[in-house]
Amino acid sequence: MLLYDAHNHLQDAALTPHLPAIVPALRGIGLSRAAVNGTREADWDAVAALAAAHPWVVPCYGLHPWYVKERSPRWRERLAECLAGGKAGVGEIGLDRWIAGFDLADQTAVFAWQLDLAAQRGLPVSIHCLQAWGALEDVLRERRVPECGFLLHAYGGPAEMVDGFLRRGAYFSFSGHFLEERKAGRREIFRTLPAERLLVETDAPDMTPPPGFRPFALPDRPDGRPVNHPANLLAVYEGLAALRGCPVETLAARVAENFARLFGSPATLPAPPLPGA
Ligand SMILES: [Zn+2]
Repeated sequence: MLLYDAHNHLQDAALTPHLPAIVPALRGIGLSRAAVNGTREADWDAVAALAAAHPWVVPCYGLHPWYVKERSPRWRERLAECLAGGKAGVGEIGLDRWIAGFDLADQTAVFAWQLDLAAQRGLPVSIHCLQAWGALEDVLRERRVPECGFLLHAYGGPAEMVDGFLRRGAYFSFSGHFLEERKAGRREIFRTLPAERLLVETDAPDMTPPPGFRPFALPDRPDGRPVNHPANLLAVYEGLAALRGCPVETLAARVAENFARLFGSPATLPAPPLPGA
């Protein structure tokens, strides 16, 4: 069974010291590919380095709404340069009215520019949205989205908006955090989502799953916040399969197809043999 992490941050300083142990653990659970998302100019080089070292990394570069205020005057050129390197995605980008001191107009300009770039280049997009669902729908309605679709990572929006996002080409990734007892509303949405738009994510080092779904542990951050081990991905698959009442192998096969449709097939796979050759 091959597994796909649709959204994480393997470049994060909370994970990098532990990578020598994390990488074999990921191999152990059957990880096939992972979309590793940059969040600001300062971490794009680290994402590129991970992609260079590990062919299973799908590098994604983007300016996250939490960091729009610290962007440099050259951020657009730098982003375009990162994306020129080959198979990549745009992320993590989005809108956030939860963070203190947000400037939605500024966030929207930055988000829309990145979405346009992805649409022009036919690249997948990983979208973060907190308390800004109406504003997100406005942007998606007014602009072109990439032909391959886009990911609403750890979808936390209203159930009534799911159909509209599906029509615009959305994929939805299930987070281990939704296995928390109190997240029954989230689980109900993911129980009934069409199987062909489902993905699974860890968002590691963030969004730690509840105790029954985190077989892998890492030391907490210095400020006491927990660090989610990306190999908890298998437990998240198992939690989602139980929720949907299907064997985890069946879910994994669907997620593999969905991941390939959104993020493209790996360039490293050998071409199939020619017929009759
Ligand atoms: Zn994230």
